[in-house]
Amino acid sequence: MSAVTPPGPPSAPLRVAVVGAGPAGIYAAEALTRQDDVPVAVDLVDRLPTPFGLVRHGIAPDHLKMRAIRETLHRALEHPCVRFVGNVSIGTDVSCAELLEAVDAVIYTYGAALDRRLGIEGEELLGSLAATELVAWYTGHPDADRAKVEAALEGVRDVVVVGVGNVALDVARVLVRTPEELDPTDMPQHVLDVLAAAPVERVTVLGRRGPVQATFTTKELDELGDVAGATVLVDPADLPGEDEPPPPDRLVARNIGVLREFAGNTPEPGRPTVTLRFFGRPVRLAGEDRVTGVEVERTVVDEDGRASGTGDVELVPADLVVRSVGYRGSGLPGLPVDESRGTVPHAAGRVLREGSPAPGEYVAGWIKRGPTGVVGTNKHDARETVAALLEDVAAGVLRPTGGRGDLVELLRARGADPVLLEDWRAIDAAEVALGAERGRARTTLHEWDSLLAAVREAAHRIG
Ligand code: NAP
Repeated sequence: MSAVTPPGPPSAPLRVAVVGAGPAGIYAAEALTRQDDVPVAVDLVDRLPTPFGLVRHGIAPDHLKMRAIRETLHRALEHPCVRFVGNVSIGTDVSCAELLEAVDAVIYTYGAALDRRLGIEGEELLGSLAATELVAWYTGHPDADRAKVEAALEGVRDVVVVGVGNVALDVARVLVRTPEELDPTDMPQHVLDVLAAAPVERVTVLGRRGPVQATFTTKELDELGDVAGATVLVDPADLPGEDEPPPPDRLVARNIGVLREFAGNTPEPGRPTVTLRFFGRPVRLAGEDRVTGVEVERTVVDEDGRASGTGDVELVPADLVVRSVGYRGSGLPGLPVDESRGTVPHAAGRVLREGSPAPGEYVAGWIKRGPTGVVGTNKHDARETVAALLEDVAAGVLRPTGGRGDLVELLRARGADPVLLEDWRAIDAAEVALGAERGRARTTLHEWDSLLAAVREAAHRIG
């Protein structure tokens, strides 16, 4: 966008709705409040009555240090120019067009919540789960399909996790952690009980390409080797030869170093194993009523990193198959989406409608760039989007009006029941109190009813 003279200091704040209170949304709110050029009033809207998105319902609960980032994120929620508005579904409670009508600008940061499919026979069988389903369950997401996940986990001994990204490592690690290791986490009690009862013996993490192409990171790989309850194995034949030149990418070279250490491990009788297996792609899930195995075709990988099948197929026994092959974003009614990429088309964060920037509409986070990167990646991403928004204010494309009426009042008039910061604080306190019953820092409330009951009970006490 070309440089234009700013219209002068606006008198009313620029009212911005950020849709999605995960890291991208919170960093966008923070970037808006950390500049002095344009006074802002930010409504941070979320479908859940709780903030933090994937920090709450994505980062594995045993990653206590990583989850502690919520304390930092919380500071942005407490800024006087930011209002948390949870329990509101944009597209249902109000349409995207109505939202844009009510405020001066909207930043969509609602992530990529859907799973990707393998597209192979047997994927619908009992015992076949998406990592998104398992992760939602073990992090206590109120929409998790408890019955499906718990039926899939019953009596599980052999697990195949498809994919070699960090989510696959999270899933493998959580499944083999000892009850003692999981005890300090905020996992709901039923999750701890089901995991403790699952007699997992063997987990195979399956990469369709080689270790050089794997997307997991060294820290996470290292950590897998440190779990108390399992031995990590790798077939040395899957690794580049010691006499070959090291991979030019330092991160890959470090991964290969850790994998070589794992390749030196030997299984111990009675101790569970996690095998990182490469050059194998699933072609069919076997089983009649439930999964009994995965047909894995051996692959070869060419110089450009492309895998092709060799026709050499082996049945790997499995009573649980978790496909951890990435997340996928979807559109909201009234918002354009590139179906093939699962992202909203944009230019530097400005939403594109029919190829042109749509005034007042922006995007950040996974729904902007796709499901990649760590929590911190969203900071830079959100700043880029906010910079575009502020440029548009300077250019006169966006004019601060202070909003046309109050968004929360509009939502209540529509029958929605917004959960504000003090309500979230009540949920937070209820989770801390629930955790304290068993000597834990917190236990996640995993049901809509209990989350909203915590809000009502606190309101009743105050009232
Ligand atoms: P990811 O890193 O993109 O990994 C997806 C994996 O699925 C890849 O190994 C991919 O293999 C494989 N895959 C895709 N389609 C497949 C198919 N049809 N058959 C077999 N394999 C297939 O995604 P992710 O693990 O879901 O992670 C998402 C993002 O969150 C990443 O940026 C990740 O680093 C981040 N994350 C970070 C942490 C952490 O920092 N601790 C934890 C969790 C997640 P190809 O490469 O061959 O396509």
